[in-house]
Amino acid sequence: MKNNIKEALANPNLRGALGRFGNDYLVSREKAYTGKNFEELREKISSIKRSAAGRMEELADRFTQNMLSRGAKVYRAKNAQEARDYILNLAMARGVKKIVKSKSMASEEIHLNEYLNEKGLESVETDLGEWILQLSGQKPSHMVMPAIHMTRGEVADVFSGEINLQLSSDIPVLVKVAREQLRRKFLEAGMGISGANIAVAETGTLVITTNEGNGRLTTTLPPIHVAIVGLEKLVEKFADVEPILEALPRSATGQKITSYVTMITGPTPVIDAGGNVKPKELHIVLLDNGRSQMQADPVFKQALQCIRCASCLNVCPVFQIVGGHVYGHVYTGGIGTILTAFFNGFENASDIQNLCIGCERCKRFCPGKIDIPGLIRELRSRVVDKKGLPGIPKFVMQRVLPNRKLFHRLLKVAHAAQKPFQTGGLVRHLPLFLAGLTEGRSLPAIADKPFRDLVVALDDKKVAQEEQWQPRVGFFAGCLTDFIYPRLGVAVYKLLHHMGMQMVFPLEQTCCGMPAVYMGSRETAAELARQNIAAFEKAGVDYITTACPTCAHALKHHFVEALAGDPKWGERARNFSSKVYTFAALLAEKSNGGQNLKLAQTTGKVTYHDSCHMKGVFGITVEPRELLKSAGLELVEMEGPDRCCGFGGSYSIKYPEISQHILEKKLASIINSGAELLALDCPGCLLQLHGGLDSRDKNITVKHTAEILAEQLLP
Ligand code: SF4
Repeated sequence: MKNNIKEALANPNLRGALGRFGNDYLVSREKAYTGKNFEELREKISSIKRSAAGRMEELADRFTQNMLSRGAKVYRAKNAQEARDYILNLAMARGVKKIVKSKSMASEEIHLNEYLNEKGLESVETDLGEWILQLSGQKPSHMVMPAIHMTRGEVADVFSGEINLQLSSDIPVLVKVAREQLRRKFLEAGMGISGANIAVAETGTLVITTNEGNGRLTTTLPPIHVAIVGLEKLVEKFADVEPILEALPRSATGQKITSYVTMITGPTPVIDAGGNVKPKELHIVLLDNGRSQMQADPVFKQALQCIRCASCLNVCPVFQIVGGHVYGHVYTGGIGTILTAFFNGFENASDIQNLCIGCERCKRFCPGKIDIPGLIRELRSRVVDKKGLPGIPKFVMQRVLPNRKLFHRLLKVAHAAQKPFQTGGLVRHLPLFLAGLTEGRSLPAIADKPFRDLVVALDDKKVAQEEQWQPRVGFFAGCLTDFIYPRLGVAVYKLLHHMGMQMVFPLEQTCCGMPAVYMGSRETAAELARQNIAAFEKAGVDYITTACPTCAHALKHHFVEALAGDPKWGERARNFSSKVYTFAALLAEKSNGGQNLKLAQTTGKVTYHDSCHMKGVFGITVEPRELLKSAGLELVEMEGPDRCCGFGGSYSIKYPEISQHILEKKLASIINSGAELLALDCPGCLLQLHGGLDSRDKNITVKHTAEILAEQLLP
């Protein structure tokens, strides 16, 4: 996979095409959804698909009965081999030599073309993108736009080779060639193979959406039509089709409607060139190939809610940099990783699941309401349950993180060891195998005094008085604030004090466990959750807050998840979670959006970076902007304020090459905004973006919102 990544990163065309599409897609998607309530729509779709997935067998039987009664044949294929053999045997029995195919991911999944071609049949793709790939011997890199990774020039070269004539890269010229070449194939073919987007059990109807019209030619011209339909495409009622058709084109390509929506309810007769009416054969291959196993899995069954819109790929910061081929299998991106695990075996997904940066952006966009990042984390945990962690991560997860004192002692050792490499609080170059860590960004040095040492001496007089102050707000620092940016903790302390709230800092608190969650180390994550819950319970607090949205995500959601099956700790985790707020939300609520803060007014342009977990998990976007404006700052929005910065915790260490490219895009937006101050609410993003701007000598100050506000506080 590392080699595939290297190759993808060395291809500027790929990044260019994916980057341009990524930007345009967001604009068209938003336009297409104008006037629609996406949340309501996806609620409907997820409920339809969840119910259908729960009754897969029943719906498959009903669909089969209805299709049989209309004269079609239905074959239940348990796996890829059965599906391939059925189609091959049918073609041989009818003397078919030439086949046309419209776009079908299920046919890619079973590697049908290769199989049929090996057996001496000619099977031609008729979707433009798929045909380009077939001619150039490549695989699709995207579920909806299979050749998105190729430029016009590359396509012109492929077509020129096919017709032995040098062609220009003008799109109308290329389309004309495709039309001329493919029309002939439709007329010659004895069989047309398609997929289906939806299969309705109630009526026995196949619904096929295409933008090129090739789907209609494939399903109508040849005398035999074979549709390969994954069991997850089944829905119960005809009325279930509408919401899916509303979301599919909007989420896939930002279109309000697909150019062609074809519904097939049983075979329709064909008229040959001589005007003779001939019967049509319709065969449906209902494909299982791992779907029943998925349905039986209490966690992964939600992946059957997928409508294959590929929105999750379109918004994935990693996919936009490396494209689909690095995933090594037919289905790509986040959902592709999960489908690969079930359709190709878990071992085939054990590497690619690492590609997820954990930004959770896909989850916000998915019309099937699938928790894709959650499923990837589960996949990772199952890989670790089975294979264990390798050497150093294992030591860190099992020995260091659960032992707070040892962990903190090691940080002190690291603080001493970094001395020769730091200047002005930054580490710009590291030696030997650590060099990659400072490539493209400088790193902050470990602070001389962690927040836990500072907090006890912050303000003795106030600390003594504050015992009376209410409410008591437990502050969870998290490793970055505690050991790298203690000044953020001081800023939170000042703001809480200003609002008459008491900061309580339990010294027994430790890492939030997010590194363990992302590594798939369930036991360590659960142990850290227990330690933190016990520390804050002992302190007796009304609220728990943190200046890190990733820690807040762990505290609010992952503790509950990690301890769900624990009879002693499950309830305690839920009580703890009910008290957790991000600091921006707590401050905005208690200060009435900053109106009740006494702030010296400042001037200057600020741009705000929405951290992935702040926006994606907590939905907080307005509050920090309001707070910044309350200090007199002029807010200028950058392009894509909610795009990932590429940090992703240990991701930037595991995949620095991908992280840097994501960072590069983000820095360009920040610089182009014209702001002199970048505000954000996550210490991880602060590390990444400050380091990136510093290593490019850009004179833009980067600060946490809490710092900016604390600096403006009037006595
Ligand atoms: S997981 Fe969701 S966003 Fe991704 S392809 Fe499926 S329905 Fe679309």
